[in-house]
Amino acid sequence: KDRSVLHVFETLESEVRSYCRSFPAVFTKAKGHKLWGRDGKEYIDFFSGAGALNYGHNEERMKKKLIDYLANDGITHSLDMATEAKEAFLKKFHDVILKPRTLNYKVMFPGPTGTNSVESALKLARKVTGRENVISFTNSFHGMTIGSLAVTGNTFKRRGAGVPLNYTVTMPYDNYFGAEFDTIKYLKRLLEDNGSGLDLPAAIILETVQGEGGLNAARFEWLQKIEEICRKWNILLIVDDVQAGCGRTGTFFSFEPAGIEPDIVCLSKSIGGYGLPLALTLFKPELDVWAPGEHNGTFRGNNLAFIAATEALTYWKTPAFEQKIKQKSEKVNHFLQSIVSNYPGLQGEVRGRGLMQGIACATDGLAERICREAFKRGLIMETSGPAGEVVKLFPPLTINDQGLDHGLAILEESIQAVVN
Ligand code: PMP
Repeated sequence: KDRSVLHVFETLESEVRSYCRSFPAVFTKAKGHKLWGRDGKEYIDFFSGAGALNYGHNEERMKKKLIDYLANDGITHSLDMATEAKEAFLKKFHDVILKPRTLNYKVMFPGPTGTNSVESALKLARKVTGRENVISFTNSFHGMTIGSLAVTGNTFKRRGAGVPLNYTVTMPYDNYFGAEFDTIKYLKRLLEDNGSGLDLPAAIILETVQGEGGLNAARFEWLQKIEEICRKWNILLIVDDVQAGCGRTGTFFSFEPAGIEPDIVCLSKSIGGYGLPLALTLFKPELDVWAPGEHNGTFRGNNLAFIAATEALTYWKTPAFEQKIKQKSEKVNHFLQSIVSNYPGLQGEVRGRGLMQGIACATDGLAERICREAFKRGLIMETSGPAGEVVKLFPPLTINDQGLDHGLAILEESIQAVVN
């Protein structure tokens, strides 16, 4: 009788499961920014499927398109064959996203998930440049397959591979050593100096805001200087926008306000719109060097994802959506700043950008305790950072004011309960 609600998972599923430990409930239903547990309890979602649900759960217009498509026996699986659903997506992505931003990228479908996009980016950069080495940054996260893991700045996660992973050099991200240390000067010196032992890399891969690594947001000037380094040494710049892209930071691509133009961009998570698996790798046309089949995979054409993704792009047709994200981001920032000053016991620091913000807590385990308390009170949030020290707020971008206010109020109550 007093069995855990997760009994079936605890006995039948591998120990590697993680999210279900943080959110001990069995979920049955979700709509917009809300989820419901089997016991009928309602939760506010400040997690958004780790960024895969920027438009919320079961968004009405996408749902209707999907239901119509299925009702008409639309093709679901098609490898990379040409389908109408894919054609419509490619055209709309070009017209609504690339063209207005004067971005000239070829689109590739590398496989269903974010890590597939990163793998393809790394492989392509190595093929194009004929170099092996790749520079990545402290606290980065790029995925769980071996190539992506090789460029991930997290010792615990890399240890999962069991063996050392080659061809990567980890450099300090912006502000890693604090403001007084010039990470750009350090990188330049290593590239210039024959004595550094640093092999010229094929690529530099980075997130403009590190989602898993603690919501560290690079300064725009830092990103611009990294781009300059790439141009000077003929290094390809890969921006992994799997988590920070699709509007999470306020613009469709996270790098837009920095005015940089990466050679390769990785997208996944919310590009599928409805939480359906889809990934894109965008690259400059001159990098389109692979022969057909040189990078392939079975699930490169999830037509249901194309149907939802095409509808999702409608949000980006006018600037109104970006403006709303900006307003909500400002509200969240204002709220977090006041929390940090009103609860000195947190020793908190506000991190992040857009609707990708949070509070870094100085005390070990405090962020985790806050998230657990919030879950009990009906708010789903996860921690981020190498020691899980950041409370991460990741509401759907479409959340209404009432939902956002309610979630923020639960967060404050939870902080109050834990800190006092
Ligand atoms: N890159 C970044 C920046 C991510 O945040 C993630 C997922 N958290 C990935 C890559 C990997 O994506 P996926 O889990 O879909 O393979």
